Amino acid sequence: MKTEILKPNIKTYKKAGKLIRSGEIVAFPTETVYGLGASALNEEAVKKIYIAKGRPQDNPLIVHLCRKKDIKKYVKNISKAQKILINKFMPGPISIIFDKNEKICDTVCAGGKTVAIRIPENKVARKFIKATKCPICAPSANTSKRPSPTLASHVYDDMNTKIPLIIDGGQTNIGIESTVVKVDNNMVYILRPGKISKEMIQQKCNLVAIDKIDTSKIPQSPGTKYTHYKPKCDMVIVKNDVVNNINNLYQKTIRNNKKPIIFCKAENEKYYKDKNHVVLGQNSEDASVNLFKYLRTYENNDLIISEYFDNGNMVEALFNRMIKSASGNLI
Ligand code: AMP
Ligand code: MG
Repeated sequence: MKTEILKPNIKTYKKAGKLIRSGEIVAFPTETVYGLGASALNEEAVKKIYIAKGRPQDNPLIVHLCRKKDIKKYVKNISKAQKILINKFMPGPISIIFDKNEKICDTVCAGGKTVAIRIPENKVARKFIKATKCPICAPSANTSKRPSPTLASHVYDDMNTKIPLIIDGGQTNIGIESTVVKVDNNMVYILRPGKISKEMIQQKCNLVAIDKIDTSKIPQSPGTKYTHYKPKCDMVIVKNDVVNNINNLYQKTIRNNKKPIIFCKAENEKYYKDKNHVVLGQNSEDASVNLFKYLRTYENNDLIISEYFDNGNMVEALFNRMIKSASGNLI
């Protein structure tokens, strides 16, 4: 199959709409990362997503809509706390879990009784969803386990010949995936951290929010149990005695005839001037924008040594992705 990359315009949206209604997959940009979309009403189309990504069958997909009022079409009921979350954060980088009704096909929810719903803010995503006239289920548009795509070229690298169309909306502006939340008894459980943090939920909604990640051996959000975002080379995150530890590790790697690269904060670049390095950002927000792109760009080194980012509003979300990329290697 030939994979086309098209700029977003009326003709592209029309084409994308037709493809989706005929049971094909289309990749599209959102404010978080690129998604691989299919009609959530078409079982065969949804199966194609799992095949294109090599995604485990038990990892459900998020359903993307463009209007809040459409949520009730696909869920059994909306609680008071869920309504508050919808009103405060949608459209935006949050996916809320509901009890699904029979319209959403089982494959979307990996056989479960719940569905995660998101309303993206990105204009291209919204116009694409509108043009399809369908609820669009979409995971990130990478091959399973690879870093998520933040550019159309990343999608092309993973999906060339597997899907007919990629809509190129440029670089995504958040860079890591949505916050996934579940509401139970008026408590908000964060199943995957993202730009919308626990603190933002508590402050804006007056609801109690709790991390549900890593607190139990049984993953609450099925996706959290799989290896994620791994670059081709090894990676380590340095949190303690940062400059000393990084310089020592760098030298040791060179002595072993291996090529290291350092991902650092802008303010610390001065310590690595004579070393192979790249500035990931000034804080956790900028670093989130660049993380997946740099993992793909610099994975031809033998070791990525990254500084821990302790500043900005996405410390937890960024660390969650970084520690997975590094398979838990933390100094
Ligand atoms: P991706 O879009 O590739 O980031 O994957 C979607 C994420 O949302 C995965 O981590 C899924 O496990 C999670 N997710 C989707 N639907 C549900 C659901 N019904 N319940 C819990 N987690 C979900
Ligand atoms: Mg993903």
